[in-house]
Order: sequence, then structure tokens, then C-alpha cells
Amino acid sequence: MAKAPQDLQIAIIGAGMGGLTTALALAQRGFKNIDVYENAHDLGFVGAGIQLAPNMARVLDGLGVWRGIEAEAVNISDTSVREGATDKELAHVELEYIEKTYGYKHMVGHRASLAGGLYEGCKQQSAIKFHFAVNAEDVDFGSRPSFTAVSRDEGKPSYRVECDILLAADGIKSLARQEMLKRLNVNVGVKDTNQAAYRIMIHKDQIKDDPELLALINSTRVTRWIGAKRHIIAYAVSNNTIYNLSTTQPDTNFAAATNATYTTKGSKKAMLDVFGDFCPMVKRMLDYVPEGEVCEWKLRVHDPLPTWIYDNVALIGDACHPTLPHLAQGAAQAIEDGAVIAVVLSRLPDTTPESINKALRVYEKVRKGRAEALVEMAAASGRALHLGDGAAKEERDRQFAALRAGKGPVPDKWADADVQREIYGFDCTQVAEENFEEYFKQMDSAPRDSKLA
Ligand SMILES: Cc1cc2nc3c(=O)[nH]c(=O)nc-3n(C[C@H](O)[C@H](O)[C@H](O)COP(=O)(O)OP(=O)(O)OC[C@H]3O[C@@H](n4cnc5c(N)ncnc54)[C@H](O)[C@@H]3O)c2cc1C
Repeated sequence: MAKAPQDLQIAIIGAGMGGLTTALALAQRGFKNIDVYENAHDLGFVGAGIQLAPNMARVLDGLGVWRGIEAEAVNISDTSVREGATDKELAHVELEYIEKTYGYKHMVGHRASLAGGLYEGCKQQSAIKFHFAVNAEDVDFGSRPSFTAVSRDEGKPSYRVECDILLAADGIKSLARQEMLKRLNVNVGVKDTNQAAYRIMIHKDQIKDDPELLALINSTRVTRWIGAKRHIIAYAVSNNTIYNLSTTQPDTNFAAATNATYTTKGSKKAMLDVFGDFCPMVKRMLDYVPEGEVCEWKLRVHDPLPTWIYDNVALIGDACHPTLPHLAQGAAQAIEDGAVIAVVLSRLPDTTPESINKALRVYEKVRKGRAEALVEMAAASGRALHLGDGAAKEERDRQFAALRAGKGPVPDKWADADVQREIYGFDCTQVAEENFEEYFKQMDSAPRDSKLA
């Protein structure tokens, strides 16, 4: 009897937002053999907040995990863009219209809550097996892709994993991507953005005697304080018990770091100095960070890849479209990837390697243009926010002024209604379902980016 698509053996590298969503979406479409290999010993997610935009919520709801995540999140009512030095408001945008327009609220939450919700969903699916503390190395392509699973626990032997479909959701440092680019003879790597980020969480009991900061933590507002080459974005998470701050500033501490370095313990004094000319309230807020707990992240991106697919291997999430955080869409796009992969594989007419490769290229066709456009938009938004004195800043501030008078685009792109329409109005699952047949047929005549071994 011919094998059904749902019997295919699928290996996923990485249990980040992309890998977890892919596993869950596949299991919900009846796939029975899904193995997830994760380098870390557990999910151990960074203590940081994350924006849960409607396009992300739509996918999570479809997977049945949104309600739990939503229960711990904060519903955003509005956003305020302010001058860092003076705290003067440059723009104010109401966001409550979003739920009515897109069917989901714009929420913000704790990363642990998002990852935990997805993981709990996965654990309820007997088809999904997790293999923690395993590093996937030496990825090989072909109609039966494979890799070596190297245990991080001493004494445990390494073994070779072979599968029908390999989905690499292994993040910006993706070994699978590097291997794929080698095969394609493309010599590009991750790119420095010369920007870095501090991620900070302030707990309510730390600021109980500070009415100004208490007002912020009790609010449902996303606030962005901007200055030349720097900004801070802040909002309350975890049912308004934690105030989450994420900064962007010129990278000075990583300047000489190797490509493998992404995070470092920072000095509190250096952090306070970066924002030394911001207003007293912001400086007071930063000063609540305990000494020794300043963590800085290097922000890197990658030029668009020629393809995300090689043979029966596909890249997912930051492995193929790492982004600057200024549009708050990195995880959302990884989550959309996972949902679309599940659609295209569930629509396979047969299980030949040729059909699998074609279906994966349909995934790429649905996803690549959109994800890469948003990466570019995030970079452009960062450039607008970080302008120093000059004509461009004057033009930006004119736009902020026009907005205060009631019309015009928002230079902080994630808050712009037209951008929101493009991002939040897109139902990736529906688009994949509606276009699968036509795109799959087109793949016969489309030029192949990759050869099937
Ligand atoms: C400061 C900042 C703020 C952000 N804010 C937002 C936001 O508000 N909203 C949003 O949507 N996005 C945001 N993002 C982006 C978002 O965090 C990422 O885009 C998203 O986490 C990518 O998910 P991923 O699953 O593709 O990769 P990752 O989360 O990087 O997961 C990759 C996983 O693969 C594992 N792995 C790697 N290599 C191997 C290997 N060889 N073998 C086994 N396992 C391996 C890793 O351990 C990791 O668990 C932000 C990013 C930053 C830096």
C-alpha cells in the first residue's frame, strides 16, 4: 500500500518559536512521526517580552494554544513615541481598532509564556518526540536528508538521523543554512548591523515607591523613547507585573567579537552612559536593573538567501530571514512559516521525493517575499527612528507633527495603519491553502533553485 504523507518521517532541528509551531501544526494535520532535536537541555527561554501581533495570534489560535497565552498577556490600547531627551510626545496612535479590524487584539507577553504555550500544545501530541541536549551536525541533503545527533551529555553516543523531510528551524546561527549555501556555492554569511540591544525586566515590587513608573507598569501602552542612533521600547507583560524594556544602540562592546558571539554580560555603567542624555525618568528606570544583570545582545541579519529549499530540506524562521526587532515580527514570521509548512505537506498528492521538494518550494513561494519585505521594513523603521540632526530627521518630525494633527504615515512602522493592514491582514494558512494547487503545478515548469539528488 502506498505511504500516506502523514506517515513521512519528519525531523525538525530547533525548538524555538519556529520549530515548536512547525511540530504542532504538522501533528494537528495528522503527521505521525515528528522528531524535534534541540541543542539546549530545556526550553530555557530568555527573560524578555515579545509582541504578540494579530497575525501571530491567528496562527496560534488555529493551533488551539492562543487562549492560554492570551490569558497571561497584556492587551495594548495605544502607543506613544517620545523624544528620549525630553519625554515630549512625538506621536500617539490608538490601537484598539485592531481587534475589530483583524479579529485579534494586539497583545504583548512574556517569551516564556509564548514558548510554554506552544510546548504544552506539542506535549499533548503523541506524534511529537523531543530530543533535548542534542546538537545537529553534519547536515546532509538528498531525498533522505540526514544529520549527526551529537549528545551534549557526556558518555552518550552520537548517532545518525535519517528522515524523509528535514526542517531546519535552528535560528540565525543555522548550520543547515551554512551547509546549504556551501552546496549552492554562495559565499555569504550573517551581517553585522552595528546595533546591539539590552533586554531588561523590572518587577513591580522594585518600583512600588515610584508612582511615575508604577503608572507605566499599570498601563496598557507601548512606549518608544527615541534619540540619535538609539531607542528604548517598553511595555508591561505578565498581567502588568513586569515592565519589559528592549533597547537598541550602536554596538561598541561586540565590535571585536567573533561571529559566534551573540550575547554578553554588559556593564551597568556603560548601559546608563548610552542613555545618559535621556530624561530623568528613563534613566531612573534603567537604574533599577541590578548590577551584574545587564545582558546585551548583538543584532545581526542576513542578506536574502537565493533559496530556502535544497532537496528535501527547508529552512524556517531566523535560519532564513533573521531580522532587526524594530517591527516586532521575527517570531511572528517564524510562526507563519510553521503554519504554511504544515499546509503544503498535508496537501502532498504522493510521497515521492520530487513531490516533497515541489511542496517545499510552494512553502518558499508563499513565504519568502513576505518575510523578506518585512525584514527590509524593520531595517527602514530603525533608520527612521535613529536619525540624528539633519534634513531627514526634520522630515520625520514633520511626519510626526502631521500625525498629531490627525493624518499621515507613522514613521515608527509597526504602528502605521497601512503597514498593519499588510502585516496583520495576511492569513498565511488561508493563502497557502488557496494557492497550493496552482503553485504546486507551476513548480513543474519553474526554474529549479536546487537539484534533487
Ligand atoms: C531584542 C529583540 C526583540 C524581539 N522582539 C520581537 C517581538 O516583539 N515579536 C516578534 O515576533 N519577534 C521578536 N524578536 C525576534 C524573535 O525573537 C526571533 O525572530 C525568533 O525567536 C526566531 O525564532 P526561531 O525559532 O526561528 O529561532 P530561535 O528562537 O533562535 O530558535 C532556534 C533554536 O534552535 C536551536 N538550535 C540551533 N542550532 C541547533 C543545532 N545545530 N542543533 C540543535 N538545536 C539547535 C537553538 O538552541 C534554539 O532553541 C525579537 C528579537 C530580538 C533580538
